[in-house]
Amino acid sequence: MSIEVRNLNKRFGKTVVCDNLTLDIPSGELVALLGPSGSGKTTLLRIIAGLEVPDSGSVHFHGADATGTDVRERAVGFVFQHYALFGHMSIFENVAFGLRVRPKATRPDDATIRKKVMELLELVQLDWVADRFPHQLSGGQRQRIALARALAVEPKVLLLDEPFGALDAKVRKELRRWLRRLHDEVHVTSVFVTHDQEEAMEVADRIVVMNHGRIEQDGTPDEVYDRPATPFVLQFLGDVN
Ligand code: ADP
Repeated sequence: MSIEVRNLNKRFGKTVVCDNLTLDIPSGELVALLGPSGSGKTTLLRIIAGLEVPDSGSVHFHGADATGTDVRERAVGFVFQHYALFGHMSIFENVAFGLRVRPKATRPDDATIRKKVMELLELVQLDWVADRFPHQLSGGQRQRIALARALAVEPKVLLLDEPFGALDAKVRKELRRWLRRLHDEVHVTSVFVTHDQEEAMEVADRIVVMNHGRIEQDGTPDEVYDRPATPFVLQFLGDVN
């Protein structure tokens, strides 16, 4: 499902957080929102999700105006920095959660849920932890479960907010590869927020560089790296050049 963001404006008090943002995310792409802290990445992600209401402008999902709709109508999956797995539920039940809480009419039966959850656990190569509990897993494993859980409801759009931010460098690297692999397998349109240029370069099909609520550049990792469009992009990528 493609996402079209049009002339989005959002302020918190006097702070302009989205400054007339326009952005097209084609169906099936993995796009990184990259920028320093406070540049408006999370707010843009939350507006796309329907968790935050813009002051003006619109968000369309595949051409249909979603601006006024509720988060539950948008068929989005989330992965956040702090894995919100339920500590008192097994890994299996954590992944099954989104399916179990569906209204009765659309809730799959137990056998279908079991099949689906085990497929997802196999996808992240953690089917062997189905009966364990979150505290028995490493941080990296928990984030892989969080990815599987987000995918369980077959979201049209997957939104990830600094999903690996709380993990150490080695695990982050491993998870980048996981996210890329998973995306190549399921092709769900994905938007992920990061302030880490290396992470964006390695994982994303396309990078949207943000600064003060504006888009400085929108291009492939090669384009952004080889031809920074503005002095800001050049400076921000300075660490890797
Ligand atoms: P980023 O994800 O790039 O760090 P954010 O979208 O989180 O940026 O925040 C952009 C700016 O908006 C920051 O200055 C932040 O303090 C402010 N902000 C974000 N959410 C709120 C809120 N709910 N109330 C007031 N200010 C907010």
